[in-house]
Amino acid sequence: VQPIESLTMLATALSTLNTAQRAAVMHGGELATPAPPLLLIAGAGSGKTFTLAARVAQLLVQGADSQRILLMTFSRRAAAALEHRVGRLVHEAMGLGTQSTPPRLPWCGTFHSVGARLLRLYSQRITLANDFTVLDRADAQELMGQVRTEMGLHTSATRFPLAATCCNIYSRVVNTAQGLRALVEREYPWCDMWCEELGALFTAYGAAKLRQHVLDYDDLLLYWHTMMQEPTLAAHLGARFDHVLVDEYQDTNVLQNRIVCLLKPDGHGLVVVGDDAQAIYAFRGAEVRGILDFPQQFSPNAAVLTLEQNYRSTPQILAASNAVMAQASVRFVKDLWSLREPSAKPLLVHVEDEAAQAAWVADEVLRQREQGLALKRQAVLFRTAIHSAALELELSRRNIPFVKYGGLKFVEAAHVKDMLSLLRWAQNPRARLAGLRVARLVPGIGPAAAHQLVDAMDASATPTQALQAFVPPARASAEWANFKAIYAALTLPDAAWPQAMDIAQQWYTPHLRRLFDDARTRLADLDQLRHMASSYTSRERFLAELALDPPDASSADAGPPHRDEDYLILSTIHSAKGQEWNAVTVLNVVDGCMPSDMATGSAAEIDEERRLLYVAMTRARDHLALMVPLRFHVTQQRHHGDRHLYGAVSRFITPEVAAHFDSLSWATQRAADESLGEGPTIDVAARVPTQW
Ligand code: ATP
Ligand code: MG
Repeated sequence: VQPIESLTMLATALSTLNTAQRAAVMHGGELATPAPPLLLIAGAGSGKTFTLAARVAQLLVQGADSQRILLMTFSRRAAAALEHRVGRLVHEAMGLGTQSTPPRLPWCGTFHSVGARLLRLYSQRITLANDFTVLDRADAQELMGQVRTEMGLHTSATRFPLAATCCNIYSRVVNTAQGLRALVEREYPWCDMWCEELGALFTAYGAAKLRQHVLDYDDLLLYWHTMMQEPTLAAHLGARFDHVLVDEYQDTNVLQNRIVCLLKPDGHGLVVVGDDAQAIYAFRGAEVRGILDFPQQFSPNAAVLTLEQNYRSTPQILAASNAVMAQASVRFVKDLWSLREPSAKPLLVHVEDEAAQAAWVADEVLRQREQGLALKRQAVLFRTAIHSAALELELSRRNIPFVKYGGLKFVEAAHVKDMLSLLRWAQNPRARLAGLRVARLVPGIGPAAAHQLVDAMDASATPTQALQAFVPPARASAEWANFKAIYAALTLPDAAWPQAMDIAQQWYTPHLRRLFDDARTRLADLDQLRHMASSYTSRERFLAELALDPPDASSADAGPPHRDEDYLILSTIHSAKGQEWNAVTVLNVVDGCMPSDMATGSAAEIDEERRLLYVAMTRARDHLALMVPLRFHVTQQRHHGDRHLYGAVSRFITPEVAAHFDSLSWATQRAADESLGEGPTIDVAARVPTQW
């Protein structure tokens, strides 16, 4: 197909674009030189992601090199969806059949995964061990705890912050690029007296990571950003890519903003897309100023385009969502409008308690399905992963299949972690935590022997040889010989991928059976892991990617048991970003949950909670229900333990907002169901037959 012809075909494929979207896709005109910088800032469901995908497709159709396009977004799932969308558009434009595989975008991913790849690629120039592996959150916390103990900070008479807090502080310091003292004074004032020790702890933590050839999640940005400070490296990295495009830019942090600008100092080839009204990651150091100040980073300033038509939701859902945002203290984006057919108003459903909430939702989900709406096109969203517990029980009881996004990750389940640790340890023999975990799986090897082993490996210039030479306790010797052989096979430089998974799985399966009662379901998880592994080109890529989703946006990688089966989506709101469903129900829209009573400290926090509700509501296409249980039970990490909250509807549902809803009180309906009716009272016992 000739370029001109396929361009025409792309135009047809993109004929649905509106004028503003088209302007964004065509921004800068011909490809000969990368276009000047562009910011596309617009409200939910206005087609930002769609437009970004269309722009990439049109670059490709014009002949841009897919290797030289860097496309970043906030989660692995979102990146995969984006790549898929681009592929489909290009496919259509080229007039290719559905059989041929759509083009891949080798540099489409999250900031963290792209960072990990670039660090590995440039490892020689930045004297970083090329076999580094990435610590997941739990491992990072464990390592922080170990260093804290080694430094004697755990014994302090005045209580030194716990390892988890230390990790949070470290993460905040890195991601907000602030000094430790300033940050602690502002956000952790109760740790004020420990500033010096914290500084020393972070230094030692950094050194431990370097020794073990590991980086944590935040380091990926920190190292990438540091690498970009060296002008020759920055220039080299920038020249790798002609086009740098970023979705969900409102949730990037200072480091990410700077990385983007350092990649393209004159802004040419840069397109960023986002919605300030949907900024929901400030609590992790994201800076909405990044998107608002983006145009001024360049001279001349970046072009700014906005979109005002919403294609997703009915006018009624949109009006309710707009009303929520109208209450925000700062607003930049104008109200959206929708041309979609009018629908009923969204529902505000008052129920007695969480059990009633679960029952209503399950009823409603089934009712919608009866009306022809597949489970997959319905979602239930909530503020925090544990909020869905009662609903999960109810769904299981009624045999309604579901998949949950957010909360505990698949990769954090013990058995999955065992397997991943084995692969990680093979990838990087200096990864102590992985080593300790795996060694202890060998029957007969306890914590002491495991420590001896990793210490010996640590001390050796050739850790794999140290492992082979290690003499385990006598009772472990047979199993150990077995393990040594597996480990040797896995560390062969040319160990094929994903076949290495099979070797690992073969070794681990008997241990899994020994260690867990519910081995069957866990074995199915390992099959799923094997399936995931096959979509990555190497072990290193696989391991890096898995550690890399933002913690509150983890995806349920385990997926549905059978992929073509229908299932309901349960998701935290954070994980639901960028997505849409025909029917959306939001749980616990009550004060204490939304806004969360963990986040009612400042006006800024309250505003972020409001935006979170806005994000949740704007996921809905046709049906939206907000649930208001009058009473619910919360388990908190705070010291006073479990308690009941007697909920009032969320403060975000003001009378003005409520006017956009139909209210429904399910308790009354239930009371009606349970009413005894009128008429005479009879003595049944006296009337039942006594003679048979
Ligand atoms: P969010 O802010 O939630 O990320 P968004 O602005 O990225 O939303 P998209 O997800 O790109 O919006 O688009 C929302 C929906 O509108 C999608 O189903 C998309 O296919 C559809 N859409 C976008 N633009 C058009 C258009 N011009 N014609 C028809 N449908 C469109
Ligand atoms: Mg989007």
